[in-house]
Amino acid sequence: MEPVNLALLVSIFTGLLILSWLWMQYRFKLKMRLLIDAPGTRHSRNDLFQTLFEAAPECIKLQAEDGLIEQINSAGLAILETSMSSKIIGQSIYGVMAAEYHTEYRHLTNRVFKGGTGFMEFELVTFKGKRRWLETHAVPLRDEHGKIYALLAITRDIDKHKRMTQQLVEQRNRLNTIIESEPECVKLQDQSGIIIEMNPAGLALLSATNPDGVIGHSVYEFIREEYQQRYKELTSNVFNGVRDNMEFEVNTVTGGRRWLETHAAPLLDSNGRVSALLAITRDIDGRKKNELKLRNQQQELAHMCRLNTLGELASGLAHELKQPLCAISSYAESAVMLNDAQGCHENKKVNDILHKIVEETARASGIINGLRDFVRKSSPVPQAIKINGLLDEILELMEPERRRWGIKIDVTIPAGLSAAWVDRVQTQQIMMNLINNAIQAINESPQSKKLLEISVLEKHDQLHIEVRDFAEGISELLRPHLFTSFFTTKPEGIGIGLSLSRGIAEAQGGQLNYQSVQPGSVFCLIIPCNIPRR
Ligand code: ADP
Repeated sequence: MEPVNLALLVSIFTGLLILSWLWMQYRFKLKMRLLIDAPGTRHSRNDLFQTLFEAAPECIKLQAEDGLIEQINSAGLAILETSMSSKIIGQSIYGVMAAEYHTEYRHLTNRVFKGGTGFMEFELVTFKGKRRWLETHAVPLRDEHGKIYALLAITRDIDKHKRMTQQLVEQRNRLNTIIESEPECVKLQDQSGIIIEMNPAGLALLSATNPDGVIGHSVYEFIREEYQQRYKELTSNVFNGVRDNMEFEVNTVTGGRRWLETHAAPLLDSNGRVSALLAITRDIDGRKKNELKLRNQQQELAHMCRLNTLGELASGLAHELKQPLCAISSYAESAVMLNDAQGCHENKKVNDILHKIVEETARASGIINGLRDFVRKSSPVPQAIKINGLLDEILELMEPERRRWGIKIDVTIPAGLSAAWVDRVQTQQIMMNLINNAIQAINESPQSKKLLEISVLEKHDQLHIEVRDFAEGISELLRPHLFTSFFTTKPEGIGIGLSLSRGIAEAQGGQLNYQSVQPGSVFCLIIPCNIPRR
């Protein structure tokens, strides 16, 4: 209980006691008068007073103005821990009262001898040397002429009550000190989520300098939306008497984010009902971020393992395909030579086709070797490459897909561009991936949106190749993950295309970026021009 409330209670109680004592005195006088005035009565005023005086369970004493005790009842002697009235009657009250209360008691005595009443709490020292808390109510006693001749005091032993109150106050102070200096957040919250109390460590977790910005506010103003449902569940568990804990992220007062771990328990009132949720919360931001880093590293490791396997496979595949590809190429070349030898010049068309077979076989070997070299992380072999030719080759390869989905591809390449200085196969790989992704993004779109624009610009010794589609684009939530390994939204996707492409672009001294446009997406590949960078 608050000390203020306690003092109020004590004052009310004291007032009631005085009122009841005055009422009893009035009734007592009335009765005495009736008894004494009644004809043939056997009681004297003195007898009655004496009987009540002795039988009273509280200490009653008569005291002179200088503090000498004139009369005291048995209850008073019991408080003083003596049975001999001679030990105290005729002695000064100040002899048994603890010294620090003497001045205040003198004031009280003076007030009573001036006709007032008074109340005070003090400690006395009993004849056995024990300190004891008392509460006294004092009124003046008047003779038949109205002259005050004594102070009448009714005194109660409040030692137990006083010590309990003191203990409570001390306990509360101790608890407050512990909570205030506790390095972790301690908070009290009601069932609707309103923060009732929070210690300085808790305010610091929310980066709040002013408690008014937090206490009295709802926890849901700080807990990030994705954790609110679970937090509501935790609150409901605690108010059903079950402890619970969880990890969640908060938005701090200064706009930052922080990971916290909370352990919540029910706080019971004196009737055993849950009056609040008591939570101890700690900062786990560092731990959480390390976990995330570790998980990413593990994914990277898994990625590397897969690439290694892919490297082995590609190397085996290259070896296996080398023979048939060589054979196809030689047969095609032999067929051309045979045609030429036989002078079948009218078969020019057949010869052209045969030349194409030789070229495509060489390209197939190049792609397989390139893939093997790439996954083995062999260094790129940059060379001067005309970007028109490279794009033509890719668009030719993508032609069946383009036709399948009825997509229009517009290519804008200004004349007189410098040659790029890149690894041919690896750059093809990037462009194929970008165009393939764009086709997949628009293949379900209405016909009006089935357009893909490829444009090239030269800026500061670099070529900017932009691939733009007019599909739905990429949501803000997903954008941070775009270039992360194994991020995919496609049921059949692997999610390594963009991350590999960015890796290749950077290894060649270039970049691969995403820009959001309305409608659609733009992926921009930046590659160096024909100036070798070392
Ligand atoms: P995958 O194609 O196997 O999913 P990528 O790394 O190539 O792997 O792409 C990762 C993700 O990026 C895709 O699953 C898709 O969600 C998104 N994405 C890539 N390009 C586009 C695009 N042009 N439009 C919309 N989303 C795209």
